[in-house]
Amino acid sequence: MIKANIQKILSDIPASVMVVAAAKTRTPEDISEAIEAGITAIGQNYVQEAERAYLQIGSKANWHLIGHLQTNKARKAARIFDMVQTVDTLKLASAINQACKEAGKRMPILIEVNSGEEAQKAGAMPGDLFKLINDIAALPNVKISGLMTMGPLSDKPEDSRPFFRITRRLYEEVDRSGIDNVEMKFLSMGMSDSYRVAIDEGANMVRLGTCIFGERISPR
Ligand SMILES: *Cc1c(COP(=O)(O)O)cnc(C)c1O
Repeated sequence: MIKANIQKILSDIPASVMVVAAAKTRTPEDISEAIEAGITAIGQNYVQEAERAYLQIGSKANWHLIGHLQTNKARKAARIFDMVQTVDTLKLASAINQACKEAGKRMPILIEVNSGEEAQKAGAMPGDLFKLINDIAALPNVKISGLMTMGPLSDKPEDSRPFFRITRRLYEEVDRSGIDNVEMKFLSMGMSDSYRVAIDEGANMVRLGTCIFGERISPR
């Protein structure tokens, strides 16, 4: 089932789009099956859950943190993850920078954009993005490699389009501004119900859970 889902998705989308399998609540067996079917990046929302899967699976795939990171878990995150997609404050970037310095590595990060400018939501507000990127660009052990957005929750994929478009524009603006130590390589947007719209609006990285693994039994 997982294998067939992945084969269909990978044959449907352009080869230039990277699929990150969003694996929250899934077993290491499910994740292994996804990797065998051609998935190269696994998205995890929680450090604890990622660690369990990572200990079984190791570096057969790249591990992406796609959930919020608490600064006190930065050390563990620095060991497990190959990319952190959810950086939205200088404080968090600094904690990752410090942890990576100790671990002797440099972490590719995406800046999460609160494209819907929702009060309770994670992500940097579009108006604060350039200052944040300039500040984080000074940290030697993280590398800004793109932008990520969720957009407001909706059951209609088309509702996401304006927010994907806003994020795409920001991505291009940052790219054009040519800030040292900043590379706009990945634009991560779109989930199971919205990835087609996201790709249409320029996403080159999509985060897919349900359409790979099936409905979550305990949704969160
Ligand atoms: C769960 C999750 C996804 C995938 O959601 P689906 O609707 O199951 O595809 C993508 N991004 C983030 C940040 C998630 O938490």
